[in-house]
Amino acid sequence: MTTVTLLGTAGGPGGHRDRAGIATLVEVDGMRILVDAGVGVVRQLAHVGLTVGDIDLIFLTHLHDDHTAGLPALLTFRHTMRRGPLTLIGPPGTAALRDGVLAYMRTNTAIRGQEGRMVDPATLFEARDVEPGIIHSDAGVIVTAVENSHYALTEFESPQKSYSLRFDAADRSVVFTGDTGESRAVEQLAHGADVLVSEMVTDADIAVVPPPVQAHMRAEHLSPSQVGRLAATAGVAMVVLSHYTEASDDDLKAIRREYSGDVVPGHDLLRL
Ligand SMILES: [Zn+2]
Repeated sequence: MTTVTLLGTAGGPGGHRDRAGIATLVEVDGMRILVDAGVGVVRQLAHVGLTVGDIDLIFLTHLHDDHTAGLPALLTFRHTMRRGPLTLIGPPGTAALRDGVLAYMRTNTAIRGQEGRMVDPATLFEARDVEPGIIHSDAGVIVTAVENSHYALTEFESPQKSYSLRFDAADRSVVFTGDTGESRAVEQLAHGADVLVSEMVTDADIAVVPPPVQAHMRAEHLSPSQVGRLAATAGVAMVVLSHYTEASDDDLKAIRREYSGDVVPGHDLLRL
């Protein structure tokens, strides 16, 4: 059986009173997969009765800090608790990010290593930079990535990519937009999915960011009506909103004008 638990639904840097950073738990026949690891993810796992040692695999949609800030805590606590190896899978840059976390862990390892033997954390945390396509496959689930348009306005010298992910299990298909603007590739990825977990950025979300960031927010995220169009075009059975602060009645109406399926305003710890 496949279940999805929204651990954190707050997009953007900073703290939110009612939402933790972006992270979602996907459980497929007892295998526990984390999609993104925003700030507060360790505490959110505790809220659903899990510890840092209970995660089997991590996927990162992209490497913005609102999707990765919880990763150092998760990895260092896992190491300190003497739990087993863990693999991170994400776009180019994931291995470099892992190396940064390992550098952060060195001080703790030096101190706690006095208390008892610790393995070298570099041997515990494998990181795989992957290109779009099928990025993981096992007996329970196939995971497919496409490159989306979250970096459409940016010309990177290094090969940064932002991905949307699809999980196909025997009983359910679940798609995560990650962060994206409008994207034909995401529409195709989401085609016929049972659940679409979609980012959304509202006018209220845009109003509170500094003016230089507003163009990015408008062009490289999804407005409520764009979420509705994506869900309708892809023909998904249900869209679950994440990465927003509040969905006003007008925001929900804007989605429903485009899409007649189930619209679920996501909140932390919502289990689907
Ligand atoms: Zn984000």
